[in-house]
Amino acid sequence: MQILLATGNKKKRAEFERMFAPLGVELLDVPAAGLPDTIEDRPDFAGNAEKKAHEAALAFGVWALADDSGLSVDALGGAPGVHSARFAGEHGDDAANNAKLLVELAAVGAIEPAARAAHFTCALCLCRPDGSVALAVEGEAHGQILEASRGDHDFGYDPLFLFTEPGFAETGSGFAELEPAGKAAVSHRGRALALLAARLGDL
Ligand code: IMP
Repeated sequence: MQILLATGNKKKRAEFERMFAPLGVELLDVPAAGLPDTIEDRPDFAGNAEKKAHEAALAFGVWALADDSGLSVDALGGAPGVHSARFAGEHGDDAANNAKLLVELAAVGAIEPAARAAHFTCALCLCRPDGSVALAVEGEAHGQILEASRGDHDFGYDPLFLFTEPGFAETGSGFAELEPAGKAAVSHRGRALALLAARLGDL
């Protein structure tokens, strides 16, 4: 099966490539014309993933998979949420986003680890070449926001995210401290992809 992955994010693409390799799914390169410039204006991750997948499938007449993901922090009322990539302004400025996150948590007095609960969400949507939705799944990973960066793997808010779900080999590690396979085993994206993979055979 060939699927166009509707993302320009190289780090996300690398995660998907690793996870899809054992499934016999070939991820198509982004066409030279580039992906449609989808406006991510839906109120939730699932809505934005569907919009991105739908527009990419229709634009190129292929199966298209889109991901919308982000971080929700309890003490900030769920922010940055769907605005994760642009929290500090410019799209994808990870350092600025992380700095702003620490400032906002301090501003609401969320100092103790228990007050810094957060989770990542990843919504995945796979659309058929006619743009209709074939599969939609969601994964979450729960933890808390660290007071300072830890580790140097990966991207986004990973350096500030401590994975705290009990019972996993990765429990107590920062996401940026984990090797790719370790992160994928418990991450929101890994979990969403596992759900998707389990249902791909139905198509
Ligand atoms: P998207 O490209 O609109 O889905 O934006 C997702 C944003 O959420 C990214 O720019 C990151 O800031 C954040 N994010 C999503 N997944 C992860 C992850 O696995 N680790 C760290 N940050 C993530």
